[in-house]
Amino acid sequence: MNEAKTIDGKAFAANLRARVTAQTAKLKAYHGITPGLAAVLVGEDPASQVYIRNKNKQTVETGMNSLGETLSVDTSESDLLAVVETLNTDPAVHGILVQLPLPDQINPHAVIDAIDPAKDVDGFHLRNVGLLATGRGGMVPCTPLGCMMMLEDRLGDLTGLNAVIVGRSNIVGKPMAQLLLGANCTVTIAHSRTRDLPAMCRSADILIAAVGRPQMIKGGWVKPGATVIDVGINRVPAAEEGKYRLVGDVAFDEAIENAAAITPVPGGVGPMTIACLLRNTLVAACRQNGIDVPDI
Ligand code: NAP
Repeated sequence: MNEAKTIDGKAFAANLRARVTAQTAKLKAYHGITPGLAAVLVGEDPASQVYIRNKNKQTVETGMNSLGETLSVDTSESDLLAVVETLNTDPAVHGILVQLPLPDQINPHAVIDAIDPAKDVDGFHLRNVGLLATGRGGMVPCTPLGCMMMLEDRLGDLTGLNAVIVGRSNIVGKPMAQLLLGANCTVTIAHSRTRDLPAMCRSADILIAAVGRPQMIKGGWVKPGATVIDVGINRVPAAEEGKYRLVGDVAFDEAIENAAAITPVPGGVGPMTIACLLRNTLVAACRQNGIDVPDI
């Protein structure tokens, strides 16, 4: 792997977690507040279980309280809403995360909109979506926030750069576009109906792939000198029978030839998501207590 070109998300995330840990210790020492992050998991989706396990471990390592519960797969929407309401009013809980996807009987929008926006550390509540869209802060979704941090670290000022985002989901593509627009990029959002996607990608100084299709974006779609952020996490069969490995949405080995910088999968965007969730929880705890938010 060309290390100079590879953006090391794992190291970046470790660094961010260390800063969050230091600020969490200060919050405890000077204000007697321990940030609490509550995660609610409904059912037994294996990928969600892994995410929640990692999140719980890192929350505790950062010095925060890890709260929340796991509910059975047949939980009704009203029962889940009652759990959310309890967390909304619990002063020990500063951040609430309801793990998606939810089982079919539950409307995810109803649940997300029931979370107190001040505790919505995923940044999915309509109020936070609106605040981001109007450039007024709010809670920023974790995955796009992590991408933004890595981009600004690598490139500095992004003003005037052409950014192409492939994918228009509410959790990645759209908030990513808002953040890049806020950083004065010229932003294009591509999706499954986009005409001539390769040409669109080749116009990008910053190319963000958030599609969910293994290695769909080829090396020849990357403009020489572009910065590529691969959000995709796809499980594909490994050489050894019965085993799997993770790949991104970008054909890494080809793309690195043209790119000036690129995130690998695994070890790129993935580790940043939980680190940003912890950062958002710290921010939420400060705001809820009228304390100045530290610069992290
Ligand atoms: P999603 O909701 O399924 O959205 C996928 C987007 O890709 C849609 O907008 C879709 O277009 C577009 N798309 C699908 N096929 C396409 C094609 N052939 N050409 C162009 N666009 C196409 O997915 P998501 O939740 O945003 O996640 C995307 C990927 O990121 C997944 O691999 C997911 O696992 C990963 N992810 C990673 C993290 C992390 O922490 N690293 C966090 C979240 C997601 P339409 O809208 O037209 O259907």
